[in-house]
Amino acid sequence: MAQYDYLVVGSGLFGAVFAHEVTKKGKKCLVIDKRNHAGGNVFCEKIEEINIHKYGAHIFHTNDKAIWDYVNQFVEFNRYTNSPVAFYKDEVYNLPFNMNTFHQLWGVKTPEEAKAKIEEQVKTSGITNPKNLEEQAISLVGIDIYKKLIKGYTEKQWGRKAKELPAFIIKRLPVRFTYDNNYFNDKYQGIPIGGYNKLIDGLLDGIEVKLNVDFFENRELYTQLADKIVFTGKIDEYYNNQFGTLEYRSLKFDTKVIEVENFQGNAVINYTERDVPYTRIIEHKHFEFGTQKKTVITYEYPDEWSLGKESYYPVNDDKNNAVYNKYKALSEKDTKVIFGGRLAEYKYYDMHQIIGSALSKTKLVF
Ligand code: FAD
Ligand code: UDP
Repeated sequence: MAQYDYLVVGSGLFGAVFAHEVTKKGKKCLVIDKRNHAGGNVFCEKIEEINIHKYGAHIFHTNDKAIWDYVNQFVEFNRYTNSPVAFYKDEVYNLPFNMNTFHQLWGVKTPEEAKAKIEEQVKTSGITNPKNLEEQAISLVGIDIYKKLIKGYTEKQWGRKAKELPAFIIKRLPVRFTYDNNYFNDKYQGIPIGGYNKLIDGLLDGIEVKLNVDFFENRELYTQLADKIVFTGKIDEYYNNQFGTLEYRSLKFDTKVIEVENFQGNAVINYTERDVPYTRIIEHKHFEFGTQKKTVITYEYPDEWSLGKESYYPVNDDKNNAVYNKYKALSEKDTKVIFGGRLAEYKYYDMHQIIGSALSKTKLVF
């Protein structure tokens, strides 16, 4: 008999939820992570008494009451509502695309006027069956918004032409004909009071966690430690890149302490021009309505990914999806390993989707 029922590789949300659930059912779990902290990409670091979202801004949102209740067992959430602002040259727009944006852009005041403007632009474009991000964006909001708020941001974010990107990426953003700047349509939204680490600490409470441990440094040893493995790292790496390497988009973060109380007046400001090298500036204190004397901001720069860099966003284009499907087919035959999470499933998952997926995978094993 192995020493553990489960070896969980990765202490991000997927690994932490899975470990929590099986431990609750009496199983013995070991969680390992190659980083020097638990929590994966939701980890926060305290600087100047402010929780810094170290791997990019994270706003929790879900429509699913069961998932909302689940996270609320561990930590209370505040009423933060994400309402990013976009700067394009010297113009300022509200996001997501809503009546405020349409008014700022065209001076229109009613939904009817805004719809007419968009319809006219869509008609001129001649797009009827959008096949890529550019066509999808134009057919949703017309050419003006595409040019000012989408094309530049998207092409620097992804390092690819908008024509070469999948349409689903832009469908993440709501388009609405009300004066509502809430970035999400979901019923529940907020930031954990005290930061995401509280959520992770609650999930991993009482579970053995070993940090600074890379599964691949001694995969034979770790594999024989447990009856089953839950793998939340990169699936191509697990299979020795035998069908090729899956591509990602990476990021660079430049974090600065600023000696002012309020730097930009909002947690998230997007810079949608192609020529500004960063995509957004995050002012972390606004996620928790902080009143500290100083502030901490992070410039987020898109970065070309190569092996060894952090893998932030899967590039779900046809070429990469085809490679992923080969790994997936292999993984389905593997009875010892459960693959889950953003890296193992090569999917642009949000936190609530990761939690939902981890919960349903634990249900499958009981
Ligand atoms: P991860 O958090 O990546 O965890 C995987 C863990 O596995 C890591 O800790 C890693 O160190 C470890 N690991 C990998 N390989 C090994 C190995 N070989 N050995 C040991 N350990 C290993 N979601 C939202 O809902 N709202 C948002 O606002 C939001 N913003 C985001 C912003 C950015 C910039 C990014 C990149 C993502 C954002 N997300 C957001 C998505 C969110 O981060 C993910 O859905 C979630 O954190 C994924 O959890 P995970 O457990 O799958 O992966
Ligand atoms: N996007 C854009 N302009 C913006 C914000 C987003 O064109 O001001 C596009 C861009 O392609 C981005 C996608 O919408 O990758 C999804 O945006 P989201 O804010 O959901 O990205 P994330 O927070 O996951 O990086």
